[in-house]
Amino acid sequence: GGGGGGGARVILGSATPSLETLHLAATGKIARFELPGRVGAWPLPPVEVIDLRTAPRVADARGVPWTESLDDAVRGALGRGEQVILLLNRRGFATYLQCPSCGDVRDCPQCAIALTVHQTPPALRCHYCGHEEPIPTTCRVCGKATQRMRGLGTQQLEHFTALRFPEARIARMDLDTTSTKWAHHRILERVAQGKVDILLGTQMIAKGLDFPNVTVVGVVDADTGLHLPDFRAAERTFQLVAQVAGRAGRGPKGGRVYVQTRAPEHHAIRAAAAHSVAEFAVHELPLRAPPNPSYPPWVGLVRFVAAHEDAIAAQEAAERVAAWLARANAERLGGALTVLGPAPCPIERLKGRWRWHVLVKASEPRALGRVVRAWGARARAVVVVDRDPVTLL
Ligand SMILES: [Zn+2]
Ligand SMILES: [Zn+2]
Repeated sequence: GGGGGGGARVILGSATPSLETLHLAATGKIARFELPGRVGAWPLPPVEVIDLRTAPRVADARGVPWTESLDDAVRGALGRGEQVILLLNRRGFATYLQCPSCGDVRDCPQCAIALTVHQTPPALRCHYCGHEEPIPTTCRVCGKATQRMRGLGTQQLEHFTALRFPEARIARMDLDTTSTKWAHHRILERVAQGKVDILLGTQMIAKGLDFPNVTVVGVVDADTGLHLPDFRAAERTFQLVAQVAGRAGRGPKGGRVYVQTRAPEHHAIRAAAAHSVAEFAVHELPLRAPPNPSYPPWVGLVRFVAAHEDAIAAQEAAERVAAWLARANAERLGGALTVLGPAPCPIERLKGRWRWHVLVKASEPRALGRVVRAWGARARAVVVVDRDPVTLL
């Protein structure tokens, strides 16, 4: 890389680089250097994948997916005076439909993202293209009754672990407990001083923590992110699980990671268990290319988000964008674009404003550039354009 302009060089460092970054390296646009060893030279910890569909759970777990294997591991670590990290990355806004016995999740036939359960009117809806279908009561694969999955929150998990391990000193780290200035720092300081036995939290605890006395890491429900309505759901799940897995075994006592999931054969889970971004990329890249719906890095993506206090106004603004895009595509771009939507954003309401979006894909980046420039010339405050969006929520 580098060379242009002021001759500056940029170094991107990551144990879990994005597929876009890997693609740039594979196509020679950036150079790649590998650091095969781990800092401190402790080996990466073994990862045990626990199948939530079949693994025995403790008797009084109620709604908490708490298996006997994870229970034994946590109890063992506490008994030896070691520390435990529990990850629960709940994004409760998207309720999806899953079969508890085979694990199948209903997804959109056009977009390959999980459909979201809506109550009024009752329907499964795609948050990319707007596709709708009735909510089925039985699984299309195995015929068993389906279940609406919303996942539990960190507060509920904290309550459960406090009952389960009454002697343990528990700290919770999520947006609610770290909103004040030094809260984040204070919690981690207590962990470092050995004043916390179980640290539980959201993705905040997945990255960068280096506590040699942490010997057990548990991913309580790896599926919470896997079925988010986002084409990067698998990639984010891989990154999150791989990152949190790296929190165990950073000292001479070693460590072990427990990943609870209803999709143990999913490539994101398997690659994370193998600590291998290469393995993840090999399986994920073909899923984003034809005959599947195309997604980056194979195509460029632009997202138009219409947001308004009035729900109808937001929807109408998005419909105008979609109509304008369809016309531009037919009249000036020779059909180079694929236009999806309008559809409600997965996060349908944010800071008092209703949100709708339109997604535009093209294998030719220049076509997207022309669209963005043409829209910019007629820009309106209601609609925000995001080229190569990092999130579609
Ligand atoms: Zn099934
Ligand atoms: Zn769709």
